[in-house]
Amino acid sequence: MENQTGFKGRLSAAFIRGSGWLEVIVGGMYSGKTEELIRRLRRAEFARQRVQVFKPRIDSRYHAEDVTSHSQESFRAQPIERSEEIWKYLDDATQVVGIDEGQFFDQDLVRVCQELADRGVRVIVAGLDTDWQAKPFEPMPTLMAMAENVTKHHAICVVCGHEASRTQRVAALEGQIVVGSHGLYEARCREHFKPEVQPPVSSLVSL
Ligand SMILES: [Zn+2]
Repeated sequence: MENQTGFKGRLSAAFIRGSGWLEVIVGGMYSGKTEELIRRLRRAEFARQRVQVFKPRIDSRYHAEDVTSHSQESFRAQPIERSEEIWKYLDDATQVVGIDEGQFFDQDLVRVCQELADRGVRVIVAGLDTDWQAKPFEPMPTLMAMAENVTKHHAICVVCGHEASRTQRVAALEGQIVVGSHGLYEARCREHFKPEVQPPVSSLVSL
C-alpha cells in the first residue's frame, strides 16, 4: 500500500482504523515532560508494542540519537529535520510513535500526527506549550486541540517554590559559563515570570 505521503507496507494489526489516538504532554522547561514521555514509551515496550521515537535534529544538547531528559533518562530516537521525514523512517509494524521537543517542528507535524492516529497509531508528543515570553508555541497548541488526551506538567518556581507554569529567560551573569540550556532558563510561576530577560535566581542560591 502506498499513498501520497510515501508510506509503504502492508497493513499490520496495529493499523486498524479507530484504535489510534493522539496524546500530548506539555509544560515549561524542567517540568518532566521528557521523563513522562519516556515512562509511557517504556510501558508500551513492556506491553510488547513496537515503538519508534523521533526528535528534531536541532536538539543536540545530549546524545544525537537519544531522547534524554534533564535527569539523564534516555530512549533511542531518530533525529529528523522536518515532520514529513517520519514517513521515510516509519516501520509498518510500529504501533506507538513518540515525538519529543514538538515545539521545534514545523506546522506539518499536526497533519502527520493526525494521519498516524487515523491509521491506528498511538501518537505521544511532548513539548513546550509556551515560549520564553509565555506565548503559545506552535505547533503544540494546535496539537493540544486535536489530541484525545493532554497532560500539563509543572516545574518548581526557583523564586518561591510553588508550581511553575512558565519558562523564564535569564541572562548569564558576567563571567558565568553557560553550557547548553543550563543558566539560560529558569522555571517560574505566574507571579515571578516576566516576559523579558531577567537576572538568574538560581545563580544566587544553591539549588
Ligand atoms: Zn514563584
